[in-house]
Amino acid sequence: MTIQNNSTDDSEYSEYEPTIGLEVHCELKTATKLWCGCKNSFGEQPNTLICPVCLGLPGSLPVLNKKAVEYAIRIGLALNCTVQPSIFHRKNYFYPDMPKDFQISQYDIPINTDGYVLLTDGSKVGIVRAHIEEDTGKSTHFSSSGRIHESTATLIDYNRAGIPLVEIVSAPDITSSEMAKSYVNELRNIIVATGATDGKMEEGSLRVDANVSVKKKDQIELGTRCEIKNLNSLRSLGKAIDYEIDRQIQLLNSQKKVIQQTRHFNEDLNQTVTLRTKEEAEDYRYFPEPDLVSLNPTGEWINEIKLNMPKLLIDRRQSVIELIKDSKEMSQLIGTVNTLVDQQLDTLFIETVGFGSDPTLTLKRLTNEAANSIDAAKKLNSKELAYLINLETSGKVSSTQSKAILSNLLENTSETVDSIISRLNIQSFGDKEIEQLLDNLILEKQDEFKRFVDGDDKVIQFFIGQVMKLTKGQANGKSVTQILLKKRNG
Ligand SMILES: [Zn+2]
Repeated sequence: MTIQNNSTDDSEYSEYEPTIGLEVHCELKTATKLWCGCKNSFGEQPNTLICPVCLGLPGSLPVLNKKAVEYAIRIGLALNCTVQPSIFHRKNYFYPDMPKDFQISQYDIPINTDGYVLLTDGSKVGIVRAHIEEDTGKSTHFSSSGRIHESTATLIDYNRAGIPLVEIVSAPDITSSEMAKSYVNELRNIIVATGATDGKMEEGSLRVDANVSVKKKDQIELGTRCEIKNLNSLRSLGKAIDYEIDRQIQLLNSQKKVIQQTRHFNEDLNQTVTLRTKEEAEDYRYFPEPDLVSLNPTGEWINEIKLNMPKLLIDRRQSVIELIKDSKEMSQLIGTVNTLVDQQLDTLFIETVGFGSDPTLTLKRLTNEAANSIDAAKKLNSKELAYLINLETSGKVSSTQSKAILSNLLENTSETVDSIISRLNIQSFGDKEIEQLLDNLILEKQDEFKRFVDGDDKVIQFFIGQVMKLTKGQANGKSVTQILLKKRNG
């Protein structure tokens, strides 16, 4: 089927609206697996981190990892969920990468329920549940498409089997691919800030399944949905959803039915293809896991987790906003604040401002000039950075000089600002030096100065140019302007 892009702009498409719900699986950063003492680690030699428990050998019994429960509770709290007593269920199905032939998961009584995520544009996406389950092993299929159907051989690595996961199920509140990407991005930032997961989509520690359906705008009940499995980048998520919305609208428009299916997004073809006809929950024959008791975290323990949790993303953003709230540019800086916090530079920012640097300028320098060297930026000494920003605000170095010093500082964060200034032979032109230069210039260029005094502000550029020539571009243009205006106003 060929599907034209952006076809949703056409009038026949505008009668429809999509409904999207997302299931996000995130691996927890525990030292060991969910039910055994095997190491939880990515990228090791295949089948080296295994034992009878995670291989599901007969007679082996699971023992719940307390840290995994703590991390799941952190995620629940960060997503504004109710944390409740819960039980584990067996989800029965066969797949070669699942040695027990069932997955231990949570079904109708999950640990976290009824939360929400606020997106940066203020819209809200409900969280139905965020439950604990175990990951499966990893199959590698040898075929050009990487899919099992055409493969000649499959290798299985059980290192991932039994790694703790939290599956976060959103309400069907998402209405576009853009909103879906924005939700996953914000969700990832929130849960990474809890310290429970690293949220690396490229390593598969965060994976997204998207449930997509479309319906006519005046129709109340939802359309038949299809689930697209294992999307591992925001880009694929957006493309898969757009493709799926178009596919379903085209089917409905030609009086065909959407069949409930699980689909796979083929990155090369840029389209979703049928994986299997969708199973219903009954197909999994869920029943309570007989080898595990119910999970009843005490209120005391939940409180302790809450108290010891890293600061929530929303609070970290608020701490930065507090410091720049008096800035004239406040409304344009909100996006920059989010970037600063997402890049984990907010602690450095707060410390630097604590040493007396101008908050707005510090924010800009950290998010613009330091943007390409985040790792180095994290190692910056806040006192040195504050010293540099202060040199710039007081006009002792120009903004060009300040940026040059900062880029040198990022190359070697143990060097001091003063040593960079002397190494680069940067001359500092304070207001006094500039005034001296201007006094001499005014004597030489009396006609130009008279025109300025008579109100011709264009002459300011002329004087800035002259001062820059004398200082080889190292003076601060703003200081030149201020001093000239002071002279005219007496
Ligand atoms: Zn094990």
